[in-house]
Amino acid sequence: MSIPQDKQRPLGPSTRLLHAGTPPLQGGSGPVNVPVVRTSTVRFADSAAYADLHHRREAGERVASYGRHGLDTHRALEDAVVALEGGHRAFLTPSGLSAITLVLIALLSPGDHALVADSVYSPVRRVDATLLQRLGITLEYFSPSRDDLAGKIRPNTRLVYLESPSSLLYEVLDLPALAAVARQHGIAVATDNTWSGGWFYQPLEHGANLSIQAATKYIAGHSDVMQGIVITDGPALSKKISTAYEALGLTIGADDAYLALRGLRTLPVRLAQHQRHATEIAQWLEQQPQVGRVFYPALPSDPGHALWKRDFSGASGLVSFAFAEGVDAGAGAVFVDSLRQFAQGASWGGYESLALVAQPERLREHSVWTGTAPVVRLHVGLEDPLDLIADLERGFGGVVERFRLAA
Ligand SMILES: *Cc1c(COP(=O)(O)O)cnc(C)c1O
Repeated sequence: MSIPQDKQRPLGPSTRLLHAGTPPLQGGSGPVNVPVVRTSTVRFADSAAYADLHHRREAGERVASYGRHGLDTHRALEDAVVALEGGHRAFLTPSGLSAITLVLIALLSPGDHALVADSVYSPVRRVDATLLQRLGITLEYFSPSRDDLAGKIRPNTRLVYLESPSSLLYEVLDLPALAAVARQHGIAVATDNTWSGGWFYQPLEHGANLSIQAATKYIAGHSDVMQGIVITDGPALSKKISTAYEALGLTIGADDAYLALRGLRTLPVRLAQHQRHATEIAQWLEQQPQVGRVFYPALPSDPGHALWKRDFSGASGLVSFAFAEGVDAGAGAVFVDSLRQFAQGASWGGYESLALVAQPERLREHSVWTGTAPVVRLHVGLEDPLDLIADLERGFGGVVERFRLAA
């Protein structure tokens, strides 16, 4: 890479992110972007070259002796992700959920126990119920902000699995404190970092050993790719993840790797705009008489605000709110059905706004929240905020009319 570098000052994070994985110039010129290298087969000059590459792979080098290992496009994306989050190596998986499952399978064996924050992405519980239990692995859910982690650790505890801020209600965790307890007991900490896109938060710098992202969300950023990423803090965990990754035959297509890399280049500007729009909407929601609580860590009223301010450099486009207590349980559905700019849909992290009613059984998993009013999750996109606010006004208008509330 040929960026002039000031010896006194390391490159800033945007600069590193923009240039990581850029192909070298050849014969005096070259493209800005890495080519999409699609292949199932790698060709070798001779049997010695074949043997050499196999040996280098076995020794842990990131070289491909077969298409499943991915070629230049994959390496460029891995480099850019490590530039984003720090760490040792990045592993690319077909979805965010498969990245989570990879970590659980790689680190846990029959008889092992793992402590899992009760506010994590809900499908983790399905992986537990349908796969891990059958393998004799026990997950135990705990409140990361109220339970004493040290008191929950058993002799067979091998992993603490977290997500901060959490899904749906954005509970911010004291990762350095939780990681310090785990470290004292020699237990690895993995955390889901999808909310921040890796741009507003670097969990490995705060004590985590593994960071997981659904690149499906902010990294790809355009609602057109499914992808997951696991980032390790050093060679020992890279070896464990790599072994399970190989055994499961995981890989992603070069086109998807390219789309994620393209998304990464504009991650900082997109997230800055998501943050501006989401902050405006969160502040507006706080003023609405039908709203009981707004969940957005950048708001000073949010219980996680102080921790967020200490450890994060920004907030994403996810804003949830609970209706005031006493509002009918059907208000969430009436609200989202009245919206025209916010589409209804799962997932998030694209350029567009989405709204979804949080299912009560999902909310009950989060011990930190004991409210009973309906909760709506918004993903605030890049549309004009005034149009979004007008749309939300329409949503509240629908609720007021249907339930004859005071406006
Ligand atoms: C969406 C999501 C995932 C799963 O990602 P997929 O690519 O949809 O499988 C994991 N964690 C969090 C926090 C998510 O929001």
